[in-house]
Amino acid sequence: MAEPTYRFFDVHVLRTHRLSRSLLRVVLGGPGLETVVSGGRDQRLKLFLPQEGQEEPVLPDVLDTGWYARWRGLDPAVRGIMRTYTVRDVRRDPGELDIDFALHGDLGPASRWAAAAAPGDRAALLAPVVTDNGGVDFRPPEGTDWVLLCADETAVPAVAAILEWLPAGTPVRAWISVAGEADRIALPTKCEAEVSWVTRPSPVAAAVEAAAFPAGRPYAWLAGESALVREVRRHLVGPRAFPRASVTFTGYWRAGASEDALLEESA
Ligand SMILES: Cc1cc2nc3c(=O)[nH]c(=O)nc-3n(C[C@H](O)[C@H](O)[C@H](O)COP(=O)(O)OP(=O)(O)OC[C@H]3O[C@@H](n4cnc5c(N)ncnc54)[C@H](O)[C@@H]3O)c2cc1C
Repeated sequence: MAEPTYRFFDVHVLRTHRLSRSLLRVVLGGPGLETVVSGGRDQRLKLFLPQEGQEEPVLPDVLDTGWYARWRGLDPAVRGIMRTYTVRDVRRDPGELDIDFALHGDLGPASRWAAAAAPGDRAALLAPVVTDNGGVDFRPPEGTDWVLLCADETAVPAVAAILEWLPAGTPVRAWISVAGEADRIALPTKCEAEVSWVTRPSPVAAAVEAAAFPAGRPYAWLAGESALVREVRRHLVGPRAFPRASVTFTGYWRAGASEDALLEESA
């Protein structure tokens, strides 16, 4: 039987660290975490959180490849709350994993949990244990001359990891939609990166539309609120004539819908 690419881990909060007004890094530890292997870039994982009044998230008894159907079969009011996040970094010896949360108030359980996270708080992860795990979408095709990134706060962790991962000298144009100046962070990179922070309500799509692009074959990666992603993609594959295969786009969240609602829609 094929080796699993993801495994479940019981984790607890080790510490938190504020990166900007809206971004909070939560550093997690736990048994076996040194075996997590991130593919880098926009590597995704699943985070499971306890419901109100629980000490730890409730997961199915058997966590094999059938875990998802079993999790769905549990009472939604009792089962662990499942959310998707980016592996911002992993370290061995000791095993630690960073998730950067874009805090958006009390509205969502994950945002609420992160804002209150304290050492010892318990959670669980379904995290990658091999590099080639199917959870990385940022894949510039061979022959790419320059990279376009477009994101909001939720995709800043992925943008930061992408900028760390790309080879030195890669031309990158990035547009990031944020609520204000206090939401900006430093984005260290060896790329030739030009990062434009676009403060809402200014539309990020308009900033992309007004820009002169570098010459050569582009690869675009778009992530954040669904409408933002859709609008920028439409511009790139329309007036800018980017080949569809050269645009990777992911709605990280949708205004007015929780991740549970989105999951139900796609079920
Ligand atoms: C592949 C992938 C990687 C992701 N990586 C990250 C990451 O590294 N960091 C990160 O912070 N998020 C990330 N997200 C987005 C995150 O999963 C969603 O924002 C998620 O909805 C947060 O869960 P919640 O429990 O806080 O809110 P939910 O219960 O899912 O939603 C409650 C309400 O809050 C709204 N909402 C959700 N997110 C936001 C937001 N950011 N701002 C304003 N309103 C919001 C919803 O529309 C809904 O109305 C990622 C998503 C995907 C698909």
